[in-house]
Amino acid sequence: MSSAVLFLVVNFVIATCFSAVFAVISVYSRWRRVAMSFAIGLGVASLTMLFEFGVAYAADARPWSAGVYATVLAGIVFLWAGIEELYRKPVSVWHGVLVFVAGMAIYFITQNIPRGTWLYPVLYQGSYAAVVFAGTYTVFRSSRREPLDRALGFALLVGALHFLAKAGLAVALGSGDSPKDYISTHYAIASQSITAIIIVAVGLLLLAILTVDLMAEERGKAERDSLSGLRNRRGFEKDVQVAMLGPVRGPHSVILCDLDHFKSINDTYGHHAGDAVIIAFGSLLNREAPAGAILGRIGGEEFAIFLPNTELSAAVAVAERLRSGIRAMDVPGMPQGFVVSASFGVSTFSGDKGFEDAVRNADAALYDAKRAGRNRVQTFQPARVAVAGKWGGLSIVR
Ligand code: GH3
Ligand code: MG
Ligand code: MG
Repeated sequence: MSSAVLFLVVNFVIATCFSAVFAVISVYSRWRRVAMSFAIGLGVASLTMLFEFGVAYAADARPWSAGVYATVLAGIVFLWAGIEELYRKPVSVWHGVLVFVAGMAIYFITQNIPRGTWLYPVLYQGSYAAVVFAGTYTVFRSSRREPLDRALGFALLVGALHFLAKAGLAVALGSGDSPKDYISTHYAIASQSITAIIIVAVGLLLLAILTVDLMAEERGKAERDSLSGLRNRRGFEKDVQVAMLGPVRGPHSVILCDLDHFKSINDTYGHHAGDAVIIAFGSLLNREAPAGAILGRIGGEEFAIFLPNTELSAAVAVAERLRSGIRAMDVPGMPQGFVVSASFGVSTFSGDKGFEDAVRNADAALYDAKRAGRNRVQTFQPARVAVAGKWGGLSIVR
């Protein structure tokens, strides 16, 4: 087996393996179409090997040569479409078909140009290079600028340049007098081995980008409450810790909130009505809470709001706005005149250590609000701390 044939087989195996992995990823990733584009692109490109054998051994090499070109081009177009969707916006099918047809038209033009000239390889490789350059440009222009994205941009740039370098190499080493001779040239060995490296580099980077994204998405899900769309307790605590690492421009505040007589809503209208109230309140919080606020559903009908760099008076104003907001809140499916209320406890703290105490204090204030008749905002009164619940053990006042 010649070295070029060996590399053809190696490239086939690499491309089909990557294709299979992307097909699997497409089932789980939110970038379903992107992963599918990569899977199809690599799958189609892997067929090149079969056409190369046709070129070498069939009586008429011309249709097989066109097949080689078409499979590589289609593979690159699918890859480009996936990259466009991942970094900018989806490419329409017609747009993709247009790029492919233009590339094939250039290929058929090259068939009337002698192989030994400069123009032949420049045009032949030029379409490939142009499509990969387009993908490179998209990656570098995108707002996604993680190290992996940068690395992909560079790998694509090298990939685009490698097609141009191949044109030079074809002239320098000679790509054979006819397509049939290609497989036994030094150029074929160089070309196929460089391609192997580029497929592996680009394939691994794309895989890493989709996998990291998938992991972040799963982590996000584990920290979200699916009903309200807010953070769950775990996500809330984590994000508060992160927020407290940010620049400190004043005290931080904590609001704890508990829906009033929620059990009777369930008892009167059914559990789904209670759920609808939680969903509506989640939206209200997202809409009304100030920018930078960290919102969490930390229990059944209990919510927490962390307000970084916010004085007690400003936090009380936020709680008051939420209190009147929930009274006016529209809950889908509920009868006219259906009104919900909530009680709020507010506390404040300075420095990076007092969060747990502040939660305990807000909890004590919430307890006061409940005892005072509900539907009110209460600030922490130091004398009450002795009977407050404990954050860690979650004996928050209900
Ligand atoms: P209070 O004014 O003192 O807070 O009274 P309450 O009825 O709101 O409080 P209580 O702790 O007695 O009841 C809370 C109820 O919330 C009990 C529980 O079944 C209900 N609940 C907890 N999680 C959910 C949920 O996800 N959906 C629904 N529909 N109900 C929930
Ligand atoms: Mg309640
Ligand atoms: Mg409660």
